[in-house]
Amino acid sequence: MERTLVLVKPDGVYRALIGRIITTFEDAGLKVVGIKMLRPDRKLTEQHYIWDEAWAKNVWEKSAKDAAEKGAKMSEDWKQMGERIRKQLIEYILTGPIVAAVIEGNEAAAEVRKLVGATSPVRADPYSIRGRFSTDSYGFADSRHRAVVNLVHASEDSKIAEREISVWFKKEELVDYKRVDEGVMFPGH
Ligand code: ADP
Ligand code: MG
Repeated sequence: MERTLVLVKPDGVYRALIGRIITTFEDAGLKVVGIKMLRPDRKLTEQHYIWDEAWAKNVWEKSAKDAAEKGAKMSEDWKQMGERIRKQLIEYILTGPIVAAVIEGNEAAAEVRKLVGATSPVRADPYSIRGRFSTDSYGFADSRHRAVVNLVHASEDSKIAEREISVWFKKEELVDYKRVDEGVMFPGH
């Protein structure tokens, strides 16, 4: 069993979607093992969104692919873009309260990302959280000089999740228990 971090971003809280977002993970057979609401300060938010070259390159590549499909050109390199998006993202997270949750289950990190959907909500699978609840896009966000508003953060993989969980939760805030249906979902578990 694996653990991953989810943040319901301020738009998810303000739109009263906390329950439906968390339910999506529970419905899939995943388990909430830690949860809290808070208004993070800048320091904590910056610790979560640390500068990471691999992340910045990936952000650039995803945006470049989207731009190429529209016949648009990228005006920044990966470093300029990564630094700008990181700033915009931190401002976005600081606009309101968030819910931080640790989700546990079989291949939890990949499963949660699948349920959350692609970064740009217009591209996200229509049954995913971002696809169901948003139509924001890279182009729209960039034209307004803001981050893509997409309801949820989910750790990229289980290794990154370990670090991110330690930013938001103390060990004793995470709880071990069995769901009543675990024996049916995972015989022998
Ligand atoms: P994900 O949240 O799907 O893992 P990333 O880690 O690549 O996506 O980016 C983190 C967040 O930064 C996104 O969820 C989104 O809010 C914002 N973001 C990413 N790329 C862009 C972009 N090109 N323009 C505006 N905001 C972006
Ligand atoms: Mg990410």
